[in-house]
Amino acid sequence: MIINSKTKVVGILGYPVDHSLSPAIFNYVFQKLNLNWCYLPFPFPSTHKISYFLECFKELNFVGLNVTMPYKEAVVPFLDEVSAFARIAEAVNVIHLQDGALVGYNTDGRGFVDSLKEVEEEGKDKTVVVLGAGGAARSAVLSLAMEGVKKIILVNRTQERGEKLVNLLRLRFPQIEAVAVGLSSEAKPFLAEADILVNATPVGMDGSSLPLDIETLSSLPPSSLVYDMIYSPLETPLLKWAKDTNRRSLNGLPMLLLQAQGSFQVWEGVELELNLLKEAAEFALRGS
Ligand code: NAP
Repeated sequence: MIINSKTKVVGILGYPVDHSLSPAIFNYVFQKLNLNWCYLPFPFPSTHKISYFLECFKELNFVGLNVTMPYKEAVVPFLDEVSAFARIAEAVNVIHLQDGALVGYNTDGRGFVDSLKEVEEEGKDKTVVVLGAGGAARSAVLSLAMEGVKKIILVNRTQERGEKLVNLLRLRFPQIEAVAVGLSSEAKPFLAEADILVNATPVGMDGSSLPLDIETLSSLPPSSLVYDMIYSPLETPLLKWAKDTNRRSLNGLPMLLLQAQGSFQVWEGVELELNLLKEAAEFALRGS
């Protein structure tokens, strides 16, 4: 691939971004499809200068961005337009420079619910326990609500943040039961109700930490699905525990690929083949 003045530049904004597979995945796809596109990592440590970063991005006339931790919420006030779903979720993971305007979207929520199909699961009529109340959790919970989930139990370290999301759910989806609980032992009886447990915290990225203690986890029904949004490592301690206790499990890779497919759709209006994205992920994982 030759980089020249016509190369369309996209990338990922976050800090850190070392763990991200997106640059390797997208550049593999661009090469395979012979597209004059390039995907760059933008590790940006200065949270208070995020508007400056976005201004420069606009001036340089780049095509688009993926946004990851800790900026999904922080970018929202500096965008010219934000899609209805991203505004409700207060989380943007895709930005597109459209006719000089920065437009924010959210493809995480759709990616999350569609990824459940990988294990022939769906959110409709289910009781789902979600750990976390950040951008990824909010996107997942709102998409589950749109799919007709029966009950959401939100377990978060900062309980007020969980309660804020539960209040939003009660307002917009009054038919759904929604409860916020803290990370303490009070979460245990709620886990016994779960059809699906979703980890939407970064706990486990270190390869050694569990988001809940074993005693609390043990109250999950044996038939439940244990879903970890983390994809690096592919098998987190939570997923290892699920495997060891014969529960079904799913890591964050299918969601990553589906949100990537959604991102390219936003930037170019074209749906990338999921098989090509899977091939790219295998290539990226071999190199990481
Ligand atoms: P975020 O907005 O920073 O939210 C993080 C959430 O995790 C918050 O609710 C936070 O609780 C909680 N948390 C953080 N550290 C914790 C700890 N040590 N103990 C307990 N809770 C903790 O991050 P995010 O964007 O939602 O991402 C969350 C995770 O999902 C990350 O691992 C990310 O890589 C993953 N993700 C994966 C995909 C994918 O495509 N597979 C997409 C999006 C995100 P407080 O409210 O108390 O701070």
